[in-house]
Amino acid sequence: MADKNTQILLKNRPVGEPKESDFEIVEVDMPEPGAGEFLVRSIYMSLDPYMRGRMSEQKSYSANAGLNEVMLGGSVGQVLKSNNDKFKEGDYVVAFGGWQTHHISDGAGVMKLDPSMAPISTAIGVLGMPGLTAYVGLLDYGEPKEGETVVVAAASGAVGSVVGQIAQIKGARAIGIAGSKDKCDFVVNELGFDACLNYKDPNFAADLKAACPDGVDVYFENVGGVVFDTVLPLLNDFARIPLCGLISQYNATELPAGPNMLGNFMGNMLIKRMRLKGFIISDHPERMPDFFRDMSGWIASGKIKYREDIVEGIENAPAAFIGLLKGKNFGKLSVRLSDDETRK
Ligand code: NDP
Repeated sequence: MADKNTQILLKNRPVGEPKESDFEIVEVDMPEPGAGEFLVRSIYMSLDPYMRGRMSEQKSYSANAGLNEVMLGGSVGQVLKSNNDKFKEGDYVVAFGGWQTHHISDGAGVMKLDPSMAPISTAIGVLGMPGLTAYVGLLDYGEPKEGETVVVAAASGAVGSVVGQIAQIKGARAIGIAGSKDKCDFVVNELGFDACLNYKDPNFAADLKAACPDGVDVYFENVGGVVFDTVLPLLNDFARIPLCGLISQYNATELPAGPNMLGNFMGNMLIKRMRLKGFIISDHPERMPDFFRDMSGWIASGKIKYREDIVEGIENAPAAFIGLLKGKNFGKLSVRLSDDETRK
């Protein structure tokens, strides 16, 4: 067993785009579990866009990371030593272990995983927080109906890829938006979306309109910015907009240049009697049983496919995170910190 725990600390609160120098990698002595506690070796560490908010000082729906403290986040790992009756040595768990190779837990918020049911990495992906976000956001806030058109951006990513596939399961048309031809090809050819448009193409607005001849009934908002401006005129009367994320703004230090579009947006909301609802997935633990039942079934039957983008080594986590906010990831982004025996 390693005798050191490698950690990534938040050194500076990034201004604009995070830099590698905003993080510090340190090695500390391996922690020892106390009474009722256990030591976990992390195998996969999740990298998610919400972490950008945790790096700032701005008040949000949850506590931010402290300066010179371990960056927080979800992880999948294996129990190495335990003084807790419910978690035994060898158990696989999904936890909130943070950006470090090992952590101590008392079991709060930790769930055991059965590696024979699904690859353990999916517990931070399609069968974890991002998958649940897609499920709750689309079904509870988007309420897609048969024959309707659902549009989602960041469509090849952890949340967006699942949104479009659930939309189709519910009988709707799924139109993706993504940042490259490769991503769009994957979204259509592998995931089976009805179409996918590249928002960086000069013809994006015309292509999106052509792909949505009956307008848009549900726009699952992941990115904001120019993508939202392009979708807005296509929204139908009574359209629903689950407001999940605004990744195009996460590194912004000022409001976008140009005219203030708020009046136009409010006018559209009124005239078209639309519904926009922000949601945060941690408010919805009650949906987890339904989610696990449906999502495991859909994955087993091939109705939901997923793609993982796994970076090797904790030292590469800062660069991978910086890349996530620029679209460098292709699928659910995570970092492998140690061997995954279940994949051998
Ligand atoms: P992804 O796996 O989709 O990765 C992020 C993707 O965002 C990038 O690959 C990139 O894709 C896209 N992107 C980055 N910058 C921009 C930009 N400037 N304009 C447009 N697209 C951009 O991440 P997730 O699936 O984990 O997260 C998707 C969204 O869902 C995020 O906004 C996140 O904050 C939100 N979220 C919200 C939750 C909630 O509880 N409300 C919970 C989980 C996620 P591309 O190359 O296609 O542009």
